[in-house]
Amino acid sequence: MFCYQCEQAANGKGCQTKMGVCGKDESTAALQDLLIHSVSGIARHAHQARQMAGLQDRAIDVFVTEALFATVTNVDFDPERLRQTLLQGRQIAEKARALYEQACAKTGAKPEERRCPAMNGAMAEDLDALIESGQQVSVTRRREALGDDVAGLQEFMLYGLKGAAAYTCHAHDLGHDDDNLYAGFHEILDFYFARQADLGKTVDNCMKVGRINLRAMELLDAANTGAYGHPVPTSVRVEPLKGKAILISGHDLQDLHALLKQTEGKGINVYTHSEMLPAHGYPKLKAFKHLAGNYGSAWQLQAKEFDEFPGAIVMTTNCIQRPRDSYKGRLFTTNLVAWPGVQHIGPDKDFTPVIEAALAAPGFAADGPDKTITVGFGHEAVMSVAGKVIDAVKAGKIRRFFLVGGCDGAKPGRSYYTDFAQAIPKDCMILTLACGKYRFNKMDFGTIDGLPRLLDIGQCNDAYSAIQIATALAKAFNCGVNDLPLSLVLSWYEQKAVGILLTLLALGIKNIRIGPSLPAPVTPAVLQTLVTSFGLTPISTPDADLKAIFA
Ligand code: SF4
Ligand code: SF4
Repeated sequence: MFCYQCEQAANGKGCQTKMGVCGKDESTAALQDLLIHSVSGIARHAHQARQMAGLQDRAIDVFVTEALFATVTNVDFDPERLRQTLLQGRQIAEKARALYEQACAKTGAKPEERRCPAMNGAMAEDLDALIESGQQVSVTRRREALGDDVAGLQEFMLYGLKGAAAYTCHAHDLGHDDDNLYAGFHEILDFYFARQADLGKTVDNCMKVGRINLRAMELLDAANTGAYGHPVPTSVRVEPLKGKAILISGHDLQDLHALLKQTEGKGINVYTHSEMLPAHGYPKLKAFKHLAGNYGSAWQLQAKEFDEFPGAIVMTTNCIQRPRDSYKGRLFTTNLVAWPGVQHIGPDKDFTPVIEAALAAPGFAADGPDKTITVGFGHEAVMSVAGKVIDAVKAGKIRRFFLVGGCDGAKPGRSYYTDFAQAIPKDCMILTLACGKYRFNKMDFGTIDGLPRLLDIGQCNDAYSAIQIATALAKAFNCGVNDLPLSLVLSWYEQKAVGILLTLLALGIKNIRIGPSLPAPVTPAVLQTLVTSFGLTPISTPDADLKAIFA
């Protein structure tokens, strides 16, 4: 196997033994490679049908984004589920081919002979045959064909698209779709499938992915706020209450809502974990009295935290890790998340097995201390105090804004972000999003003029809110976003963070600092291009970076 799609890539280069650092084995890796190859072929026909005759099919659109999402780090580790997805892909490929042939008939074009790889004989039902086919279309083969610079940047482009796919899937589940957005996915995958050794075109397509991801985040923002209201500043308990308990992790607010409805009146407290924390700020979710608080921290400490949690646990999206036997029996997955041997909640969202597991578990024996943190500073909440913020900037009370956010990984070097946040001068505001904030979000950063110095904007997809806030500030100060007293210090771990980085670059935002290490697929030559064009800078030390920012 060879995989370098996340920041955990072995030795900063790639996982290439029998097992990736995340726990992905070589069979799963091959099946994921085959799924990407198949889905690119499907998207190619869908792209041609749209281009030629404006034809489209929502089943194809949804399959493409779900398949991309399934290959994101820490989502689907189950070879059997991947086999099922590949077999479903065969039917979807037939649809895409028929759509393409229909477009040819409409326009008088002669259909090309080349069949979609998802339809060919290699798509056997046998798992071993599928794994063997996957090994033939690995990233290694693409690197041999395209060279490390172009192949690496095309993988980076694909990773950004995977991140955008995750957001698009959540929005779709809440009934929000956009034809142009789906068309963008197909166009990029068509380019990926064509294997063109063209660095310039690859850079252009990376920027397109950035714009696709922006639209996906915007759509998801509309879906989440449309369903559950705009987040409002909310105090969240971070210590447990006595009683039976369910912990829900991941990004899917719809799953949380369904779980809250099904557990109402059953004497079970529901706690959020990791990226589910911002859910507490949404009016229609916080209205449930048994949404009791937040437990634990970011995903990478889940083995210890789930072990100690005395109830049932639900993983709605990434990031799942190899479960310990001690809690595997009370762990549940849903949506695209899967681990062999872990119970899966199907699309009907019947959480009865979760509720039964929670009632059978001991629950918390006593209340923890009364400790809270505040969440819920989405774009509407921040805009409501914009006048106060602008006055404080004009009066010199707020010197600078720092957005310290992004995905979090497990490497010890990540203490940079804690140290950095603590070293930020007291007359500066700190904006956070995604799970990197767990490194410092329970610390007391004080206030400026009654405003909390640390404002949590939300999940990684709420980077959309951060962009809205920055754009509004730039408008208020009559300048560009790059002229604002704003510094972005981002952490990356997996593909959603890549999508967000590409969005910021596509918006022309410069001088972003990124760490803790650089993405393995980005070669030194490509990095130089990014540094020259965008001022993208690797993090160094908190002191040196702050000194450079204030220079
Ligand atoms: S997803 Fe990350 S940790 Fe897992 S195999 Fe790929 S590079 Fe390695
Ligand atoms: S922010 Fe990124 S690393 Fe953190 S839970 Fe979400 S997807 Fe995983």
